[in-house]
Amino acid sequence: MEPIYLNSLNSTEFKKIIDSFDYVFSDCDGVIWSDVPYPGVGEFFHRIKQLGKTVQFVSNNSVRSRKKYEDLFDAANIKCGFENLIIPSIAIAEYLNASNFDKTVYCMTCPETINILKSYGLKCKNGPEDGAELYTSYLDYFDDDDEIGAVVFDNDYNINLAKMYKAITYLRRPEVIYLSGASDHYVYLKRGYISLGPGLFNNVVNEETNRVPIVLGKPGELLGEFAMKRSGVTEPSRVLFIGDMIKQDVGLGKVAGFKTLLVLTNHTREDMMAHPHLKPDFYADSLGSLVPILNNVCLLDIKAKSSI
Ligand SMILES: [Mg+2]
Repeated sequence: MEPIYLNSLNSTEFKKIIDSFDYVFSDCDGVIWSDVPYPGVGEFFHRIKQLGKTVQFVSNNSVRSRKKYEDLFDAANIKCGFENLIIPSIAIAEYLNASNFDKTVYCMTCPETINILKSYGLKCKNGPEDGAELYTSYLDYFDDDDEIGAVVFDNDYNINLAKMYKAITYLRRPEVIYLSGASDHYVYLKRGYISLGPGLFNNVVNEETNRVPIVLGKPGELLGEFAMKRSGVTEPSRVLFIGDMIKQDVGLGKVAGFKTLLVLTNHTREDMMAHPHLKPDFYADSLGSLVPILNNVCLLDIKAKSSI
C-alpha cells in the first residue's frame, strides 16, 4: 500500500488513524531534535498523551549522557523523557543481567555505554585507544583473555585495528556472547554530510569470525520486543513507531509488526518511494507540522466524550 501523507488529511481522517493505535514509540535524533529541538515537537507529544496514548522513546544513540538527554527533552518541552527512553546500552545491560552473566564484557563502545553497563553491576574492559606503530606490534592483540565472556559493539568514535583484533580473538570462542547496539552503516551529521557508522566495522568482525551478533539496536527485532515488554504491549499493530530513517526505524517497525510513520527531516519523499521493500504506513513533513490537525483531533475527541 502507498504510504499516507498525514499533512494532507482532514481532522476526521486523521482521528481515525490516531484511534487505530494506543502506543507511540518515537525515535529521537532527526525526529525530536537535530542539535536543538524541532519546533512544535513538545506540543505534538503533549497532545498525543492527552489523547490517552502511551509514549516511549527508542533511540540507537548510546553516546549521549543521561544529563544531555534530560537537557534535550527539557528543551523540547517533553516531560519524563529519559525515564521513558530505551537505548541499546540499557537493553544490552538488561539482556546480560537476565542471562546471569558474571564474566567481563569487552566493550567496543563509547564511554557512556561502559558507564551504563557498570551501573548495572557489569565488569568491563576496553581499549587500547591507540593503534600500534608497526604491524608486528599487532601480535600483542591476538592474546586471548579467559575473563572475557561477551563482546559488545556499538558506537566507538576511537575504533582502531587493535580493538578489532581483540574482539575477533575473543569471539573465536563460541561461548563468548556477541552483542551489538546501533548497526547503522552511516550516521547523518547534517543534511548532505554523513560519517561511517558502527555497522560497517561490525561487518568486518562478523566476516572474520563468521558470527552474527545479537542485535539490541534498531532495526533488531529484539529491541522492539524489549520496548513492547516495557510498555506492556500485547498487540504490536496498536503501536505507531515514528522515525526519520528508513532502514532503522521503518525496518524495526516492520519486523516488530508496528505501524510506522516516517518524518521527512533527513529523507525526501523520493528516497522513501525508492526503497525496494521498506515503505512506511504514513509519512509527514515533521511532527510539529501535525500539531494544528492534532489540535482539531483533540477537540473532536472532547466533543465525542461529552456527547456520551
Ligand atoms: Mg533518527
